[in-house]
Amino acid sequence: MAGKRTFTMIKPDAMEAGNAGAIIKMIQEAGFKISAMKMTKLSEETAGQFYAVHKERPFYKDLTTYMSSGPIIAMILEKDNAVEDFRKLIGATNPADAAEGTIRKLFAKSIEANAVHGSDADDTALNEGNFFFAKTEQF
Ligand code: ATP
Ligand code: MG
Repeated sequence: MAGKRTFTMIKPDAMEAGNAGAIIKMIQEAGFKISAMKMTKLSEETAGQFYAVHKERPFYKDLTTYMSSGPIIAMILEKDNAVEDFRKLIGATNPADAAEGTIRKLFAKSIEANAVHGSDADDTALNEGNFFFAKTEQF
């Protein structure tokens, strides 16, 4: 059975552009409940830990530099079928391929600066949420 939780970050480009409010509104209107939320800034090292799965990829260094370039908003979101439904709401990694009406189509600047993160599976959603939030910060 699909899990009820996913994890997201509003990435530095969307924060800088002032799009956090519009993105959170879209998330809530799509039926996700916010179970945890904080604004914080990743260091190059914590960004590297978060995206460790991409360590061998050519874009890894750029990605950790970009993800630590400014503040982000981290959230745990709750909804039936959360991971899959949220990936649909955000659209493809590359905004050029993202469907009309998706968050990345509307707000992403490039394949790297693509406005939001979304977990790719139930187990990564759980790990990513626990990476940012203590149990007492998850509602
Ligand atoms: P995310 O994990 O952030 O939700 P995703 O699952 O759609 O994104 P991944 O393949 O996990 O995509 O890549 C992680 C992030 O690395 C992307 O969101 C993007 O910021 C960056 N990225 C991915 N592919 C490239 C690329 N070819 N060039 C530059 N940056 C990239
Ligand atoms: Mg991913």
